[in-house]
Amino acid sequence: MQASDLQPSSLTIDLSGYRAVVTGAAGGIGSAISAVLRRAGAHVTGVDRSQSAPADVDEYVSGDLTEATVRKEALARLGDQRDRCILVNNAGLVLDKRLAETSEEETRQLFEVNAIMPMLFTAELAAAGHQGAVVNIASILSFAAERSTGPYTMTKGAIANHTRVAALEYAGQLRVNAVCPGSVRTPMVTRGWHESGDPSRAERRVSSLYPVGRIGEPSDIANVVAFLCSDLAAFVNGALWTVDGGITAA
Ligand code: NAD
Repeated sequence: MQASDLQPSSLTIDLSGYRAVVTGAAGGIGSAISAVLRRAGAHVTGVDRSQSAPADVDEYVSGDLTEATVRKEALARLGDQRDRCILVNNAGLVLDKRLAETSEEETRQLFEVNAIMPMLFTAELAAAGHQGAVVNIASILSFAAERSTGPYTMTKGAIANHTRVAALEYAGQLRVNAVCPGSVRTPMVTRGWHESGDPSRAERRVSSLYPVGRIGEPSDIANVVAFLCSDLAAFVNGALWTVDGGITAA
């Protein structure tokens, strides 16, 4: 094969003809992912436990994704389409507690939502015969420890390794990759700033840690997800893409 045969005909991210399921679609990063995938031409079904449907989806399933019936209903929205399917495992829970402060129940819940549910959803997508791309939203905490969020950090290590294992297991049917964000301006993060009593100071402090002088915006993450879902990333499988303004390079 000539190198020129491998050149895409266009560098535009074109997801027309794709059908996507985005979990956590009512949240900060999930709603940006839904919007960008739609802008690239995909038909997007959002899933979230929030009762009100977010603006930027074509279809919406409201429910708790740890329940098999909710995942089944979401997969049904892919219809008869077998190829060009996308699953973005974005829904997640954070808990600002150290290992010693976290109960067994809290730990199990974090693992259930952040690691086990995406693993099951990916397996169900594969078992239904769908082909395409899966993107897991992991974290820079997939690679490093943080004392203040012990069990959350453990779940992000688990989803990173799920990405690698699933990429091997489903190769040829699904490309499975992860995006690993640093801090992103979403309710998950801004909640903590408000709890500190001085949100502007808290934001300035976090931003100053980032080499580019700011934290991420949801669209920073969504753009990379769209690329990973597209044919431009046809040879990307089992990769953990850090999107963090360079903080882990420091
Ligand atoms: P968010 O809290 O704004 O959104 C998360 C969404 O997931 C919410 O809408 C919530 O309702 C939904 N959700 C949670 N559990 C669910 C369940 N069991 N069933 C259905 N829906 C459920 O958070 P976000 O910042 O947009 O985070 C999205 C993902 O990005 C998470 O996996 C998070 O761990 C990851 N992440 C976020 C940051 C950050 O700084 N915001 C950094 C690294 C990784």
